[in-house]
Amino acid sequence: MTSADTEHFREALLDERQRVEHALATLRDEHPGSLDDEVEEVAADNHLAETASATLGREIDYSLGDNAEQVLSEIDAALQCIEDGTYGTCTNCGDEIPRERLEANPWAALCIDCKRRAEAG
Ligand SMILES: [Zn+2]
Repeated sequence: MTSADTEHFREALLDERQRVEHALATLRDEHPGSLDDEVEEVAADNHLAETASATLGREIDYSLGDNAEQVLSEIDAALQCIEDGTYGTCTNCGDEIPRERLEANPWAALCIDCKRRAEAG
């Protein structure tokens, strides 16, 4: 990978990082309270159906938040790899990660084979 390539992916990573951080900030702004508070308030109004939907909505938001934080840490790890000069190689087997995989997923730390193996457990 040339330094121009690395620069290209660094920018992609920084862009993505900003986007994810913004999404996380929005998530937190929209839901400043805890889930328990919200359910208690709704339950006090005696709208049981709303309690269920509030809980469901929060669970979805939380999983999005978890996912965003996960992506954020993967982006940071990839940026660190750029600093270290190891970007674009699989952190597991050391093989080169295909360019098209990095274009689709600039924070990918594993080659496709290792990723599949990791997902298989
Ligand atoms: Zn690998």
